[in-house]
Amino acid sequence: MSLAVSHLEAGYGQLNVLHDVSLQVADGEMVAVVGANGAGKTTLLRAISGLIRATSGSVELDEQPITGKPAERMAGLGLTHVPENRLVFPTLSVRDNLTLGAWSKRGLGSFEQILELFPRLKPRLAQAAGTLSGGEQQMLAIGRGLMSNPTTIILDEPSIGLAPKVVVEIMAVLGKLRSESNLAVLLVEQNVRASFGVADRAIVMQRGAVVLEGSPAELVELPEVRAAYLGGS
Ligand code: ATP
Repeated sequence: MSLAVSHLEAGYGQLNVLHDVSLQVADGEMVAVVGANGAGKTTLLRAISGLIRATSGSVELDEQPITGKPAERMAGLGLTHVPENRLVFPTLSVRDNLTLGAWSKRGLGSFEQILELFPRLKPRLAQAAGTLSGGEQQMLAIGRGLMSNPTTIILDEPSIGLAPKVVVEIMAVLGKLRSESNLAVLLVEQNVRASFGVADRAIVMQRGAVVLEGSPAELVELPEVRAAYLGGS
């Protein structure tokens, strides 16, 4: 099991946002997490990657406890967090952004592999990251994360603001990473159709708790999922 979250509680100051959240992601598996705005999806990823402190419960990565370890150590342990809003370094080139992703002691992911996954980045290596399109910036943010050679990648709404065609492209790459590189992928997504199309399992969060879990095919049959996330269709 690559990532195992058990009975996790976390929040901000006095506000407890996550309530007894447990989930697992195996090597070579992609799990999608969906839920309404404010359900706690971003908070879950932050608590996993140590950006906020868990108040109780545990997180294990490749059978090692990582709860409470600082976020800057996570890449070295094999966990990559691709945050919301991409956060590439806008004035640096694509090449330098990618190189910065390789600082961890796990050493280099393969530049070639990343350019193969995202061929659009190849002719743009010298271009300032801030001048890339939104989709290209998302590809760069994922590529940068892969440069630390992770076993597990967690992503916060990579599809946000992107054209449907680009979303399909990004989901396909995530699916490929899971199957061909045996990565564990935890994908927070508002875009239920896109993420359910590629995920092996899905989790629905509501008010900081996991309320449903199953295969995407099972979950889309549920009236409450259809009504809330698929426009009732
Ligand atoms: P969205 O899809 O809108 O991003 P989400 O499911 O990712 O939502 P979170 O961003 O995790 O939800 O927010 C969960 C709750 O925590 C919300 O009530 C939010 O107001 C609160 N929250 C988030 N960040 C902070 C913060 N830095 N300080 C205080 N409260 C916060």
